Amino acid sequence: MIGSGAGAWVDREAGQLNVPGPIRRSIGLMQATVLLLATLGIALALSAVQLSIAAGQHRGAARARTEDVLTLAEGGATRAAWTLDQELAARVLGGVLATGGFRAARLVDERGEVLAAIRHYDAPRDPLSSRIREWLFRDVLRGERRLTLTVAGRSQFVGMLEVEQEPHALAAGFIRQAQGAVLASLVESLLVGLMLLWISSRLVTSHLHRAAVQLADARPERSDVFRLPVPAVHRDNELGDLLRSTNRMIARLQDSRRELAHVATHDPLTGLPNRLLIRDQLEGALSRARRSGTRVAVLFLDLDRFKAVNDLHGHECGDALLQAIAGALSTAVRDADAVGRLSGDEFLVVGEGIESEDEVVQLVRRVVDAASRRHPLGEREVSATVSVGVAIFPADGEDADALIRNADLAMYRAKRDSGSVWRFYSDEMGGRAAQRVRLEADLALARGRGELELHYQPRYATGTGVIQGCEALVRWRRGGRLVNAARFIALAEDSGLILDIGDFVLDEACRQAAAWNAAGTPLRVAVNISGRQLTDRDLAADVRGALARHGLAPRLLELEVTESVLIGNLERGRALLAGLRDDGVVISVDDFGTGYSSLAYLIGLPAACLKIDRSFVSGPNRSPAVLGMIINMARSLGMRSVAEGVETEAQHAMLCEHGCDEVQGYLLGVPVPASEFAAAFLSGEDARPAVGRRS
Ligand code: C2E
Ligand code: MG
Ligand code: MG
Repeated sequence: MIGSGAGAWVDREAGQLNVPGPIRRSIGLMQATVLLLATLGIALALSAVQLSIAAGQHRGAARARTEDVLTLAEGGATRAAWTLDQELAARVLGGVLATGGFRAARLVDERGEVLAAIRHYDAPRDPLSSRIREWLFRDVLRGERRLTLTVAGRSQFVGMLEVEQEPHALAAGFIRQAQGAVLASLVESLLVGLMLLWISSRLVTSHLHRAAVQLADARPERSDVFRLPVPAVHRDNELGDLLRSTNRMIARLQDSRRELAHVATHDPLTGLPNRLLIRDQLEGALSRARRSGTRVAVLFLDLDRFKAVNDLHGHECGDALLQAIAGALSTAVRDADAVGRLSGDEFLVVGEGIESEDEVVQLVRRVVDAASRRHPLGEREVSATVSVGVAIFPADGEDADALIRNADLAMYRAKRDSGSVWRFYSDEMGGRAAQRVRLEADLALARGRGELELHYQPRYATGTGVIQGCEALVRWRRGGRLVNAARFIALAEDSGLILDIGDFVLDEACRQAAAWNAAGTPLRVAVNISGRQLTDRDLAADVRGALARHGLAPRLLELEVTESVLIGNLERGRALLAGLRDDGVVISVDDFGTGYSSLAYLIGLPAACLKIDRSFVSGPNRSPAVLGMIINMARSLGMRSVAEGVETEAQHAMLCEHGCDEVQGYLLGVPVPASEFAAAFLSGEDARPAVGRRS
């Protein structure tokens, strides 16, 4: 029975709908009726036998009674017949009837003439019952006796005495007995029938009915296991066997349904959902997204040069590659996402619950990373690359088909533009995300292409105006134009590229500081350290390596670590930075005031400088009172206070007034390349801050 609608199963063979309806014929009732009729029949037959015995007894008794009365009256009757005494005859007959139970008597003489005859008046009765009684006792009603007299040694016939019993009186006892017996049989069979009905309904029918209702409600298409309960009382009998067999059959049915459903909806090679199922899953994701107001990203992946893999390594290898990519994709996506194989070397990824451009980028990045790499296939490794087209709901299509079509289109564009791994179909978000991803892809290549450079911004002592050092700030010259540092640094942090960039900055800053030192203008260079360099790398080894490579004295290197990074890695960071501080490297807390700004964590930090975030100096939070407090706090902890973002004379004057140790900002010098920096700030006469000058 496969294929069902709500509430009913279709019996394929019978071709009809088996709807469980009200019980029309109960097995118990049928059983009871048959048994009732059978016991009734048997009871009636037994009663009939009983009655026929009883009737025989009654008839014997009647016969004996007749004989008794005839014997009793014989003497008198013989005398009356012999003497032809009619009066005596009448008295003898009267005596016979007086014994009761007789309705007629007659005495005839030897010639057959009636000497006397008496008949009681018969009250009119129900003719049928009278006839039955007559019929039942007809052969015993009448009795006669030949009257003989022995005269001279010879027996001589003198007459006949005839008596006739009253049938009503005779049958009354028998009929009472018969009524009682039949009634008892009826009651007995009725009771037996009812008892059987109750027993069979309690023991069998109710269980069968329950099983029938449960079977009718069963949905074999549902994944949960369906079992008919086997009552303890039937565990070892035929009903238990029947229920267990039914359960086994249902289990097999469910298994084959599941197998069938799996085969129909999954790709046999990779085990991924096929086009049908992934499209369904996309539909589901779309309806959830409509309700929650989120977006859905549809990624159409196509392997590059898959045909070449097949041609070069054989189809088995091609299959193995598809399986490897399917596995990699499945593990790369989030739980909420879905991966399916559309056909050949095409895959579809559905990203659900997308709220920002960032999430699309992450998803695409994960998917591309998972697919585009060298996949170990047995003995050999096969490298694969993919082209990805991305369509985003709702902007790029309202339904699954439109989104898949548009993602496919975008994928073709990605393939056409050689070198671009992926393309968005359109839309603002897609465009932004695409830009972002390209930026990221380019950033990954920036170092190799020599597009990264460092700009240096000077730092001055407030009181003396003597240059104290400079901060190295990384710049990316992409296509001849500088990319906004805050933007690409955030991207680099996100993608992990910051580790590579950090290496470059550290190395380049050390190289530059060593060069300035060698030129006779020693200057401490401050390098910004990202949180990832603290956690994902051995920063101490990197720093020592860079210092050693360029023969730079540790005191000419300063490491700026932001407050929030330090808070996140307090234990490890503290020990690591303390080690470097002991080497002579200067440590400073960057952007102070934007994180916890708590005195508690500052105590015990191996930092020599506290760089006050520029938002307190020239930004929205600027406040002389707060600045004063931070400067005092730094002083009491034995740290030098450095104010960033000094843009105006007034700010500069206020910082001098509050006793801030060092200042840095556009007012004193913008970040410039090393060559300009030396000319502008290290040329002897320019040792004092170039207040008001912006280079
Ligand atoms: P930061 O460490 O606080 O660097 C100071 C930032 O303030 C620089 O921005 C600098 O150009 C800017 N600035 C300097 N003076 C003024 C001023 O008077 N007014 C204003 N409004 N801004 C001023 P930039 O170069 O855009 O860098 C932004 C942030 O990027 C840096 O903040 C730092 O956290 C990070 N960064 C820069 N270079 C690197 C690097 O090589 N490695 C790491 N990990 N992060 C870096
Ligand atoms: Mg800094
Ligand atoms: Mg800063």
